[in-house]
Amino acid sequence: MSVLLADVLVWDPSRASGMTGPTDVLVVDDTIAAIGETARAGAPTGARTIDGHEHHVVLPGLVNAHFHSPANHLKGAFRSRPLETFMLYESPADPALRPTPREAYLRTMLGALEMLRTGTTSVQDDAFLMPSPEPEIIDAVMQAYADSGIRATVALDQPELPDTDKLPFLDGLEGLDPEVAAALRAPAPAAAAELLGAYDHLVGTWHGAAGGRLSAAVSISAPQRVSPEYWGALDDLSRAHDLPVFAHVLETRTQRALSVPGTGQDRFAGRSLVQYADDLGLLNDRVNVIHAVWVDDDDLDRIAAAGAVVAHNPVSNLRLGSGVMPFRAMRDRGIPVALGVDEAICDDTVNTWGVVKQAGLVHNVSGRDPEDWPSPAEVLDALWEGGAAAMRRTGRIGRVAVGAQADLAVLDLHAPAFTPFNDLRGQLVYCESGGSVRATLVAGVVVAEGGRVVSVDEAALLAEARELHAARRPALERTWAEADAILPAVDAVVRRAARTDVGMNRWIG
Ligand SMILES: [Zn+2]
Repeated sequence: MSVLLADVLVWDPSRASGMTGPTDVLVVDDTIAAIGETARAGAPTGARTIDGHEHHVVLPGLVNAHFHSPANHLKGAFRSRPLETFMLYESPADPALRPTPREAYLRTMLGALEMLRTGTTSVQDDAFLMPSPEPEIIDAVMQAYADSGIRATVALDQPELPDTDKLPFLDGLEGLDPEVAAALRAPAPAAAAELLGAYDHLVGTWHGAAGGRLSAAVSISAPQRVSPEYWGALDDLSRAHDLPVFAHVLETRTQRALSVPGTGQDRFAGRSLVQYADDLGLLNDRVNVIHAVWVDDDDLDRIAAAGAVVAHNPVSNLRLGSGVMPFRAMRDRGIPVALGVDEAICDDTVNTWGVVKQAGLVHNVSGRDPEDWPSPAEVLDALWEGGAAAMRRTGRIGRVAVGAQADLAVLDLHAPAFTPFNDLRGQLVYCESGGSVRATLVAGVVVAEGGRVVSVDEAALLAEARELHAARRPALERTWAEADAILPAVDAVVRRAARTDVGMNRWIG
């Protein structure tokens, strides 16, 4: 299968304008085979030609470097809450919410459709499969990614420890309602051995599947949610197969409070979660440090020395009131920063363009010199080069270059976001919403065109998703009522953390 993108403009970050052309781009199989004069001449007979009319620009497909697909059906469902109380509602381990494989398939597909429509070609899905990651559910998630045509790297985001090991300030547990205390003490739904068995299935069945488009990662969820032994086993698996390691680190002030002596989690011994990871020997260049909002200079030095990548989720960080990540301090240290949606329940889209815009805006309130605010070029570098680094695919995705994967978004510069045309980078970061995307290619296959996904029957899938999720709604509402009972205890933890001096501030206003 070959595609000739004819008379197109082509993303070129080395040029002041950000692009070159009009010219031609030839895609053969899953690879960009030629750009420029040789492209048209080299097109095999039968190659499909897509005309760019000299005003379509070929960009690298967007990389959504951090995402949780299991909440794809919950957009706009919740009021804004801090992460710790939000999670009571987001992912209850209630058997009544155990999805059928078809539900898991459709749920995953909802996100894939939205991403492909708007030009996102790669996703890293840190999938929490509650209550536990059964093989048939893993298969359903991966099959949805296989069928949709998107490039997906998937891990199992399963906590291994009870809430009492994850939160500070739970010393007053005795005073709680016995049922609430029991819920907080309840063991995680799946133990380490079961989780490692699930990884055997994920890696053995799906890593490298669909011509390499699908792959596995490992996830510790967060340092405070797993034992060092389980984390070590995942790190071994990651090293053996060169898999990214997903780790939510210092997303919230409550997590920073874990490092304050006397807050009740003695295993951290006054160390930040970054220092704790480093001391365990588990901070390395395969780690995606997700969020990194409440990090200090020492944490950043350690992240830089390890060669780890930070996954930045600015919309989620605002929706959950987590705070503002120190973007400039990371860039100054050469830490690669990638961009992520995080979740459809706290973004509340699966549209990476919104994250791009927010990354270009929120750091302007850092109080720093305006020269230190992120430039559109830096934001786009995070989107593409940072995203590729997070996925351990530098040079293979995130570029429009001969030999790179043909993961491409074709945008119309005659669309409203670019009319009149002023500046490509500025209009990509501040103006584009996905509405200018005319075609999305993944691994050389046209998967979305004219605003619709063409790899699957989009309308039928959406209709089925509406029907199945409506049927689940009563069970969902019952779990929310149960979360209401636990809410005051966790809310008290968050409030105490907010009053605790953690030696820094990442809140504004
Ligand atoms: Zn996350």
